[in-house]
Amino acid sequence: MNEETIEQQLYDDEAETFRNQLATVTAEGKRKWVYPKKPSGRFHKARIVVSAILLLILLLTPLLKINGHPFMLFDFLNRKFILFGILFGPHDFHLLVIAMISLVVFVVLFTAVFGRIFCGWACPQTIFLEMVFRKIEYWIEGNSKDQRKLKSAPWSAIKFFKKFTKHIIFFAIAFLISNIFLSYIIGIDELLKIITDPPSEHLQGLFAITVFSGIFYFVFSNFREQACTIVCPYGRLQGVLLDRDSIVIAYDNVRGEPRRRFKKDEGWENRGDCIECYQCVEVCPTGIDIRNGIQLECVNCTACIDACDDIMDKIKRPKGLIRYASINSMEKKTKWKFTPRAIGYSALLTVLVTILVILLLNRTDFSVTILRTAGLLYQDQPNNMVSNLYDLNMVNKTFNEIPVTLKLENLEGELKLIGKDIVMEPQGNIDSKFLILLPKSELSKMSSPIDIGIYNGDKLIKKVSTSFLAPMKKKSD
Ligand code: SF4
Ligand code: SF4
Repeated sequence: MNEETIEQQLYDDEAETFRNQLATVTAEGKRKWVYPKKPSGRFHKARIVVSAILLLILLLTPLLKINGHPFMLFDFLNRKFILFGILFGPHDFHLLVIAMISLVVFVVLFTAVFGRIFCGWACPQTIFLEMVFRKIEYWIEGNSKDQRKLKSAPWSAIKFFKKFTKHIIFFAIAFLISNIFLSYIIGIDELLKIITDPPSEHLQGLFAITVFSGIFYFVFSNFREQACTIVCPYGRLQGVLLDRDSIVIAYDNVRGEPRRRFKKDEGWENRGDCIECYQCVEVCPTGIDIRNGIQLECVNCTACIDACDDIMDKIKRPKGLIRYASINSMEKKTKWKFTPRAIGYSALLTVLVTILVILLLNRTDFSVTILRTAGLLYQDQPNNMVSNLYDLNMVNKTFNEIPVTLKLENLEGELKLIGKDIVMEPQGNIDSKFLILLPKSELSKMSSPIDIGIYNGDKLIKKVSTSFLAPMKKKSD
């Protein structure tokens, strides 16, 4: 083999094995702990502001109430959901299905166009890890070099104090996070009861909070970036969602290569702008080198953009060697365009959202079904009357208990409820039966349309049309 072939073979081997291994796992399968350098720069500052706003929204939303009811509630156990103050229940399952499909299409479209921008700017995992837990770690243990030193140092009073303080604070924050999430599930009032009542009265609730706190503590103190690479389904889907027109955080290899160390007084001819300073690698919280291309582990945290921009400033080259861009826009120098794939997803999303909006606008507080009881036509009654038996089903989608009465609207006759008066429980579903009696003299046809009004006091809440069956009139009658 000549030298060129050997070099090619080595390159091929490297290319073959490059993706066989996660950046944070050794060849033996052991975890490689990442000590990212403290990030700083314009993107990091912007992310701090966005994260603070999102954390504030997350913290304050459970406290918001509309007419005494939570603004948002996701009570999975009782299948009760409140979104923006509107109560949704099992009867709104069709809305949930359309909303979920729309969300999936939105995520696919958003990712096809903007890549993993959500991961870097809005994902709770990234926000908590990078903006809360990591910041505390830097504050207690120092920057990456100090953290490495502390790790390899023998146990001492100072090391014990730092580690102990860090983990106590981590657990306290994990406990707070689990309480916040629990308040979205059981409501803030129920949570306050658990906190203020004697522990023996809420053993189940306390057990749930402790388990959740333990999980959050483990994720943020130990599991960290592994959650994004190993567990998160959205992260795993990136490979099929992204294409060469998606906007991602990318290294401009056209401009950066051939890379090599910067020597004083060297010109910029015959070399790329990358000076092999490894600052982009040192700040990466997932331990990757962005110069190897788009990678599964990249959570689009922007730290490498800031680090490289800082270097570019220092060596007086234009910023943006690492930037938000599509691969096509960098390699072919084309402007970003809306691809046929994105147009298709957008059209589908528009249709789904339109259907959802129409259904939401037409959603009423009550749903009422009245059907003539199956298998029965009519019944002859004394005094030349005829009756029909009806089945009634009513769903109350409001927060209030509502007593209702039924009235015959368009004909003179009698409506008799079978059983007790109807009182609809909040979010309740009620079944009942009633008879309608009409004089035969009023009925000229075999089937007559009738309207039944459902009233709460004097207020008509729903009007339902159905039919009334009667015997055919004989010609002599
Ligand atoms: S920070 Fe920029 S210049 Fe330094 S290694 Fe990374 S890409 Fe190259
Ligand atoms: S490659 Fe850059 S954007 Fe991606 S995770 Fe690492 S530092 Fe963040």
